[in-house]
Amino acid sequence: MIGITSYGAYIPKLRLERTAIFQAMGWFAPALMMVADGERAMCNWDEDSLTMAVAAARDCLTGLDKRQVQGLFLASTTLPFDDRQNAGIVATALNLPDAILASDFTASLKAGTTALLTALETAQGGARNPILVAAADRRETRPASFYEMWSGDGAAALMVGDRDVIAEFKGSYTVSYDFVEHYRAAGRHFDYTWEERWARDEGYGKIIPEAVSGLLQKLGLTMADVDHLVFPCVFQAEHRNIAKKLGAAPEKVADNMHAVCGETGTAHSLLMLVRTLETARPGERIVVAGFGQGCNALCFEVTDAIAQLPSRIAVSGHLARRKTTGNYTRWLKFRNLIQPEMGIRAEAPTQTAMTALWRKRKMLLGLVGGICRQCGTPQFPRMDICVNPDCGSHHTQDDYEFADRPARIKTFTGDLLAVSVDPPHKYGMVQFDDGGRLMADFTDCDFEELQVGLPVQMVFRRRTEDEQRGFVNYFWKATPAPGAAEEMKRISFAGRVAIVTGAGAGLGRAYALELARRGAKVVVNDLGGARDGSGAGSSTPADQVVEEIRASGGEAVANYDNVATPEGGEKIVRAALEAFGRLDILINNAGILRDKSLIKMEPENWRAVLDVHLHGAYHVTRPAMAAMRDGGFGRILLTTSAAGLYGNFGQTNYAAAKMALVGLMNSLKLEGRKHDIKVNTIAPLAASRLTEDVMPPELFERAQPEYVVPMALYLCSEACDRSGAIFNAGMGYFSRAAVMTGPPVQLGGDDTVPTVEDIADHWERINDLRGAKELADLNAATVDLMTPVQKPSTAAAGAAAKPAAAAGGVDVQAIFDGLAGTFKAEAAQGVDVVFQFLISGSGGGEWSCTIRNQTCSVARGRHDKPTCTLKMAAEDFGAMIGGRLPPMQAFTSGKLKIEGDVMKSQLIEKLFKIG
Ligand code: NAD
Repeated sequence: MIGITSYGAYIPKLRLERTAIFQAMGWFAPALMMVADGERAMCNWDEDSLTMAVAAARDCLTGLDKRQVQGLFLASTTLPFDDRQNAGIVATALNLPDAILASDFTASLKAGTTALLTALETAQGGARNPILVAAADRRETRPASFYEMWSGDGAAALMVGDRDVIAEFKGSYTVSYDFVEHYRAAGRHFDYTWEERWARDEGYGKIIPEAVSGLLQKLGLTMADVDHLVFPCVFQAEHRNIAKKLGAAPEKVADNMHAVCGETGTAHSLLMLVRTLETARPGERIVVAGFGQGCNALCFEVTDAIAQLPSRIAVSGHLARRKTTGNYTRWLKFRNLIQPEMGIRAEAPTQTAMTALWRKRKMLLGLVGGICRQCGTPQFPRMDICVNPDCGSHHTQDDYEFADRPARIKTFTGDLLAVSVDPPHKYGMVQFDDGGRLMADFTDCDFEELQVGLPVQMVFRRRTEDEQRGFVNYFWKATPAPGAAEEMKRISFAGRVAIVTGAGAGLGRAYALELARRGAKVVVNDLGGARDGSGAGSSTPADQVVEEIRASGGEAVANYDNVATPEGGEKIVRAALEAFGRLDILINNAGILRDKSLIKMEPENWRAVLDVHLHGAYHVTRPAMAAMRDGGFGRILLTTSAAGLYGNFGQTNYAAAKMALVGLMNSLKLEGRKHDIKVNTIAPLAASRLTEDVMPPELFERAQPEYVVPMALYLCSEACDRSGAIFNAGMGYFSRAAVMTGPPVQLGGDDTVPTVEDIADHWERINDLRGAKELADLNAATVDLMTPVQKPSTAAAGAAAKPAAAAGGVDVQAIFDGLAGTFKAEAAQGVDVVFQFLISGSGGGEWSCTIRNQTCSVARGRHDKPTCTLKMAAEDFGAMIGGRLPPMQAFTSGKLKIEGDVMKSQLIEKLFKIG
């Protein structure tokens, strides 16, 4: 049986929104509006037909032994070389065997199906198989033309052979006509296109039906026997009409991918075929047609083997990996349709020595390095001496392919001075997981995406172009692995050991389950008593949670000790150390309720609640703190309540205990600081046995503990750098609560004690919380209280000038007030510059900052002769000055716009203490 044995696809990550073309050029060509929907696939500046063919072929080779491949047929009308076998470059990049037949198929859009048909017939004739067929096109179109809208860039690859056939070849029918609805003369950049109506009616509308009908007749089939009809046609309505003419029901017709990709030239029939194969079921019949100076129609029948095909990216995967852009000028630059100044560095010689290229072809085109036979160390490039200092063997290197090896970023830089089509030029050291490293360019990513440790994949790309001699240099670059950044952002507790008290039910159980799901080893503590803490206790709640964790592959141990006693606390911590050897996280969560109004509150009820909540936290935290100190890391979470923070009738014991925990946190945050032990407090709102009779039923339904978990776990993670804060969390809502202190009001004189009447007279001012602050500790509070008081009028004005800060936004005025204080005079020698800041958004405005004679002065308003003007949103400005947004990143991401002398703006980082 001969047929297709594997498939692969490639669609560039970049997609240009068609509305962007219309927005830029609609004034010139209003008719473009008719097709200005969806997006077209767009090559990055370093991609072309060859790089895309390599990518699709790699996808197709998934799970196959490439040493078996006996032929490579490459189809494209946009091959970079007229006389240098392009298929040979692809074969070298793929490290296919030297003894293969490589051939280029070109000069017609149906070259893709012609290459496929030729491969099938070659295999059928028994001459050779398997043969890899790859088709790719990156066609150039004139700006503001319909073809710019309709076309897309992409590639497809199919393996043809007689083993593990997934779609058996049933036959073909071909017609060849010199029908010229478009052509590209030798040496021309763009196609010349004839009238679209004629192409549609006389070309697509007649020739495709002729070939498909011919095929069906030849095979003795009717359209009823066909499950999928695959043919390209840029004219949406005609696509439907042709299907109708052939008697194919709309559901049988493969989508022409106009909305998601555009028409990819010679690759398009094959790309649509791959997309069809992705979901085709055994027994289904597929007819695929390729149009272009005639038409090839081929018939396949899907086999059972399709179910065994290893998963790959294919069309669906590439359609999902997309990054849209509305930047039409970027498109024009990437296509070389505009020639902006590239600077003198772009004139550096790029001539390739063919001798070196031949000698090093495996390394340069195939990314083949070496691996030491003695010690197994991989290295790039391959050399005579092993790089392993403990080995150092000579002449022990075998070939080692790096292209498909997992790798990560070790170092990176964004170089604005280096010549680049897509600045900044991004490059750095790539470290392969199994050994070996190389300096590589990064592509298909923004600078902001790069980070040390980010998993990357190697991709074959254009490196430089020698325009003088018409030569393109290819090499391998690194691109972030799909989903890698998200994976890196994932908050993991792998290797961490956590204790959750009261984890047998309610919130504690939810915390423990999620901690374990994210890799933590958990001590599930629960006494198993009644809601009011009475009863002998039970091991069941803790055991059940441990079982749940283990059943889903996590690690946990149960503990049934009572947090309300010092021995209980000791034992809980010991359980963690004995089972897992360390302790990183403690969630003090155990709780009971004994609600009564104060007059009815007997001492035992008062004490029982304080014992569990307040003393319980002390009993467990004390030994836990010691273990964390020894480990040099710790996260402690205390559990308060809205009843404590704000008050609730009938809960004086509970409220007192819960608010006392805030006091515990305030001091503990200071004691834990030098050991990286962070202490925070959560005020949850969740459905549990504690709240079942106090929450209205509809609220109880919605308030599942899982909605509180994200905040609790974040506060226990390495990512959390806050200590000493309180957070409300419930039903997916989160807020921070804090003890705020109003501006101090000084009464009396330096030598005069204020009177009670003074208080009465200034009662409103003392009560005024406008301009209130959070104070770091007792010392800060004492200093703040005695800070010279603003006069009533200025206090009010000051408060009014800071609405953004009070509302939780960025206090831009305060930043400028403090700017001169962060000025580094020693760095300003010889600097004479005026920065004009235009800050937009809430709290924004205009400020200028003049630096002259090593002094800095800041003034509100516009300077009449600024050296450079910096425009930013208030929030971004706050982040930049706060050190959270590096100025260079702000600039390259467009958050910071600079007018005037851009170079001078770089002084800001030197002249001020940022962060
Ligand atoms: P819950 O009753 O479902 O869970 C508390 C768990 O603590 C129980 O399994 C209980 O057996 C255990 N426990 C009680 N005393 C213990 C002790 N001495 N030693 C060990 N374990 C003990 O209640 P929940 O709603 O999940 O409450 C968890 C925490 O959240 C409590 O501290 C509670 O005060 C606090 N809280 C809850 C809410 C809410 O809306 N549910 C609101 C504010 C605060």
